[in-house]
This record gives sequence, C-alpha cells and structure tokens, in this order.
Amino acid sequence: MTLLDKLRSMVGGNRVRTFTYECRECSEVFESPIASTSQVDCPACGANAIRAAPGKATA
Ligand SMILES: [Zn+2]
Repeated sequence: MTLLDKLRSMVGGNRVRTFTYECRECSEVFESPIASTSQVDCPACGANAIRAAPGKATA
C-alpha cells in the first residue's frame, strides 16, 4: 500500500482530494484535483498565474 492509498483510505474511499487555488490576475478562488499550479488555469479568466490558496477543503 502506498502512502497515497493510505491517506485516501483515511479520508474515506473514493472522495477526490481537491486543492484550492487563487488566481493572481482576477483573485478568483477555485478548487482543482490537480496538485500543480503550473498545470492549472484560472476558470474565470484563463490565466496561468495561479497560486495555492490556504483555503479549507469543502466536504
Ligand atoms: Zn483569473
């Protein structure tokens, strides 16, 4: 069992972990399952100027 699997089972089965990001262009805050700012574009303005936001995960 990998560490990721272990974490997944702790969180509860198939729920997808999401990461909260904030757009530096328009301040849009959104979530994505992709854990890489370089691969995430803002859904509001399409900019690739994203930073991780310390938001809490929505249950
Ligand atoms: Zn934006």
